[in-house]
Amino acid sequence: MNNVELPDLSVLRRCWPEYADAGKTHVVEVAGVRIGGPQTVVIAGPCTVESREQTLNIAREVRKLGIGLMRGGAFKPRTSPHSFQGLGTDGLEILAEARRETGLGIVTEVLDPRKVEEVASYADMLQIGSRSMQNFPLLTEVGKTRMPVLLKRGWSATLMEWLCAAEYIAREGNRNIVLCERGVRTSSHLTHAQSVLDLNIIQPLRRETPLPVIVDPSHATGDWTLVDSVSRAALATGVHGLLIEVVEHGVDRESLRCDGDQGITPDILAGIVAEADGNHVTAATHGTP
Ligand code: PEP
Ligand code: MN
Repeated sequence: MNNVELPDLSVLRRCWPEYADAGKTHVVEVAGVRIGGPQTVVIAGPCTVESREQTLNIAREVRKLGIGLMRGGAFKPRTSPHSFQGLGTDGLEILAEARRETGLGIVTEVLDPRKVEEVASYADMLQIGSRSMQNFPLLTEVGKTRMPVLLKRGWSATLMEWLCAAEYIAREGNRNIVLCERGVRTSSHLTHAQSVLDLNIIQPLRRETPLPVIVDPSHATGDWTLVDSVSRAALATGVHGLLIEVVEHGVDRESLRCDGDQGITPDILAGIVAEADGNHVTAATHGTP
């Protein structure tokens, strides 16, 4: 990596002897799905659990495509306190129903250290959102659960800050962490896209850590028309998976209470899944770590 000294962290290859070789990834298994293996994993679902009907419809569509893991937020980190904050426990119940009906594993966000136990009792994987990446008490609580964790990058976090955040989870004895690049903040939102997807970080990250790395093209763009091409670009950089927001066919985007502009319909998702299925994740390129 260029001129940056990383502190000693147990999530780094150089401090994790089994993974000294850049060809190896620490596979994180979530509800029978192996993230970090040769197969690219797609995690898909609504931004937010807005209703039972919407969530179950999307779960069925996702399942039909052979996907094993569904995303969906019950507790939402909203910029404005006046925006819809998610259905909370009722939303978790809906996700549990979707899992019972379809067999999908559930990836859902936890925002509050006091809610970790509750969310963990419903989830197969706990998501830490971009805004929470440096909520250290939350990271510590999540680490104590020993559950798989999806750690999103803070939208202005450096590689070192991100890996230090992972270390807060790991030092509790939990290295089942998947890193998710979701775009960084630049001036792009003034003209054409919510964030800039930092694909430059994928290989440096993979060289430094054996933790699996996935990309979220939905929050990286904020625009459903860009998700297909950006997903394909991400696959080319050697990611282990994609995290994608989905809306129902024919949905009135204006009626959605969260991220209505960025969810793709199941037909577009089908194309991305086909591309991901044909993609073989290559080893991290050997650079000079
Ligand atoms: C989300 O995944 O729904 C989300 C809020 O993403 P981020 O934390 O990356 O903004
Ligand atoms: Mn969202």
